[in-house]
Amino acid sequence: MIWDTHAHIDDPVYTEDFQEVTERMKSSGISRVTNVGYDLPSSERSVKLAQGYDFIYAAIGIHPHNAEGVTDETFAKLLLLAKEPKVLAWGEIGLDYYRDLSPRPIQKEIFIQQIKLANEVGLPIIIHNRDAHQDVLEIVKAHPPKYGGVFHCYSGSWEMAKVLLNLGFYLSFAGPVTYKNARHTVEVATHVPLDRYLVETDSPYLTPEPRRGKRNEPTYVREVVKKLAEIKNLPFEEVALQTMHNAETVFGISQKV
Ligand SMILES: [Zn+2]
Repeated sequence: MIWDTHAHIDDPVYTEDFQEVTERMKSSGISRVTNVGYDLPSSERSVKLAQGYDFIYAAIGIHPHNAEGVTDETFAKLLLLAKEPKVLAWGEIGLDYYRDLSPRPIQKEIFIQQIKLANEVGLPIIIHNRDAHQDVLEIVKAHPPKYGGVFHCYSGSWEMAKVLLNLGFYLSFAGPVTYKNARHTVEVATHVPLDRYLVETDSPYLTPEPRRGKRNEPTYVREVVKKLAEIKNLPFEEVALQTMHNAETVFGISQKV
């Protein structure tokens, strides 16, 4: 049993074969997937999917790319979605200084506001951080999430990972840990404590080896587990079980569903 804790299977690339994608996933032991929102419409789609399929859970939130233009009305609608029973996290939220699609001051403001909202409704947060390590760190220190959080597709150094682990965060690994140039990520995976890591695909992006470059789907999270098992020198099943258990802990699923 594996939980793909971060995917976007509401993406139109799955329109034609959604049924096959989810059947493949279930027959390969992927028992749960969290579909993650990045703006209001995708958050609504995530909730709809979670309502329609017992193995799909939802996260809702505004990605830093889409921070510009967010209004109080957007937040009011997200707050309503957050109350749906299968919404397990607020995300993905954070900062992206690589593509800078929204002005940085607005990214920061929307990130902080959403941490506060997550605290208000009792949800952990899912953080997207690209090339913004210092500012993300400052923000989560100044505005700590009360219900914990996950750094999705963790790509930082082990130095930063240590700080985040001390702050109580979980680190989630995705396809890039299987790539040949993944020296930093492999180092982090080597040292991350067994009770603090998760796995994800970020489907349809970040396809792991050996399918890198093609469309990703939740089934391929097995490649991430396989790589982590190799790095940690543990059996595949043990890593799968640990990440499932960790996901249950951070998402508080025993109380919610
Ligand atoms: Zn994502």
